[in-house]
Amino acid sequence: MMFNKIRWSLFRISSYAIVIINILTFGIFLYVIAPYVSYFFLNDWKFWKHLSYFHKFYFSSLSYVKSIVLKDSLFIMYHLPLSSPPMDSPDIQLFRVSKDWEYPDNSCGTCFNCCSMLADCCFLDTSQNKCVCYGSLFWRYFNCGRFPATGKQLKYYKCPKFEVIEQA
Ligand code: SF4
Ligand code: SF4
Repeated sequence: MMFNKIRWSLFRISSYAIVIINILTFGIFLYVIAPYVSYFFLNDWKFWKHLSYFHKFYFSSLSYVKSIVLKDSLFIMYHLPLSSPPMDSPDIQLFRVSKDWEYPDNSCGTCFNCCSMLADCCFLDTSQNKCVCYGSLFWRYFNCGRFPATGKQLKYYKCPKFEVIEQA
C-alpha cells in the first residue's frame, strides 16, 4: 500500500511538473514528449492523430491556472491528495446517482457543468457532449474520474446527476 501511495504521488508530481514546464516553454514541451502526452491524455500512443489538442491544452491549462488563482475555486477543486488512488467513479460510500436522473448512469446527458465552469476543457467535444479522454491516465488520476470528490464540488458545479448519501 505504501509503495502504491509513493507511486501515485510521484506520478502526480511529475504530471504537475510537465504542465508547469509546458507553460514556461509556451506550449512547446508537450511536443517534445508527444507519444507520452498522447497516451496520458487520450489513451493512444499515435500522437500524430492528436496534435491539435496539444496547443489547445496549453491555453486550457493557462485558463485553468488563472481560474484557480483568481476565483474562489482553489479550496473547492484541490481535494486531491497526491497519494490518492486513481478512480473512475466517485466514492460509492459518499455519493450515488440521483433517483431523478433521467439519463443512463454512465452518461451526463446534456450537462457539462464540471467540464466548463472553472475553465473550458479542451477535451470536451461539445458537438456530442463527450469527453475525448474518458478513462485515460489524466482522467483517472486527476479530478474527472473521481468527480464529485466532495459535497462542496457537487454544489459548486450544480451537478444534477449525483447526490450525497446521508450518513447515519
Ligand atoms: S471529464 Fe473530460 S471533458 Fe470533462 S473536464 Fe474532464 S477531461 Fe475535460
Ligand atoms: S456536473 Fe455532474 S452531470 Fe454535469 S457533467 Fe459533471 S458529473 Fe456530469
